[in-house]
Amino acid sequence: MIFLKTEDEIELMRAANQLVSKTHVELARHIKPGITTSQLDKIAEEFIRDHGALPTFKGFPNPYGSPFPASICASVNDEVVHGIPNDRPLCDGDIVSIDCGVLLHGFNGDSCYTFCVGNVDENVKHLLKTTKESLYKGIETALAGKRIGDIGYAVQSYCEHEGFGVVREFVGHGIGKEMHEEPSVPNYGRRGNGVQIKNGMCLAIEPMITMGSPKIGMMPDRWTIKTLDGKPAAHFEHTIAVHHGKADILSSFEEIEQIEGNLY
Ligand code: MG
Ligand code: MG
Repeated sequence: MIFLKTEDEIELMRAANQLVSKTHVELARHIKPGITTSQLDKIAEEFIRDHGALPTFKGFPNPYGSPFPASICASVNDEVVHGIPNDRPLCDGDIVSIDCGVLLHGFNGDSCYTFCVGNVDENVKHLLKTTKESLYKGIETALAGKRIGDIGYAVQSYCEHEGFGVVREFVGHGIGKEMHEEPSVPNYGRRGNGVQIKNGMCLAIEPMITMGSPKIGMMPDRWTIKTLDGKPAAHFEHTIAVHHGKADILSSFEEIEQIEGNLY
């Protein structure tokens, strides 16, 4: 069942997603060589709770009976998604994908940004730039009357043209009162295929793109997903509402990008 949101509900979704983006901004101020992802997690959790919201990732169940132990996912270098924050300091040249979700006034926000730590290799920056651009290509395609496969096609064709891999096992999703709602929003697909996009749909679009092969594996912690070839991966995610026929982006990267400066 796909839940279409009213105008009022879209505004509540915007508030939740703006809080996720503000949390990212807070983290952007702290991301530098030497900080640990556990420290970032603590900053994020305090920030979210201080703003009257709940960190939805904390305690999120998996099929193996190990609830997620933290408020953010922090995936470094060859970790694609669902990295558990830990006490290893970030190093100059690392990239770290910070995925964050909050529940505010009954609605969910969900957004991810891949940050550079210090000076990052130009090829890796190209991966980040392409992944972020592919997210916007997907968003531009999320028009009422188009289909979910059109979004996936836009992301996939853009990234594969640059020689990058598109992860298949994890996908975007509908979002609302639940963090994961129908429909699934794959980062691959065929034009004109899949569920028709309608006004009131709220979708988390989230390309997970690899420098090499898109093949991935799960680590023994039952959460962290890494590339099998050890090459880096990037992950950018916005939550959007289809509103007046086109995508209204509810989360925002603007302030993060101001703090980062002109990286790529
Ligand atoms: Mg997310
Ligand atoms: Mg998501």
